[in-house]
Amino acid sequence: MFFIMGITQGRKDFNFNQMVICSHCGSYGRYQVYMTYMCLSLFFLPVFKWNKQYYVQMSCCNTLYALDPVIGKRIARGEDIEILPEHLTEVQTGWRSRYKRCGNCGFETQEDYEYCPKCGRKF
Ligand SMILES: [Zn+2]
Ligand SMILES: [Zn+2]
Repeated sequence: MFFIMGITQGRKDFNFNQMVICSHCGSYGRYQVYMTYMCLSLFFLPVFKWNKQYYVQMSCCNTLYALDPVIGKRIARGEDIEILPEHLTEVQTGWRSRYKRCGNCGFETQEDYEYCPKCGRKF
């Protein structure tokens, strides 16, 4: 008898809705909570999951935070709790896409031009 074994990395998104004013970009964003894990499967059935890590990503600017695992587990269980700033550790700073791109010449700018400074076409 032999086993078909596999180890994969998985990701699970949680259905979690909490609106906040983002401390990075200042706009109204949503905490998107998800978990990553390693998964051992036997005969294509997951039997064991480990190395669970919880993350929060801002919907506004994609800033990524590591979430306190205690809070992450409670969200995974479906508890209705509030994520506070002290539960979050910043992993990756996001950005806010303010670039305008000229459809004619491809010039990109962060300034609020009405006309492309390169080719003069209206944005
Ligand atoms: Zn933001
Ligand atoms: Zn242009």
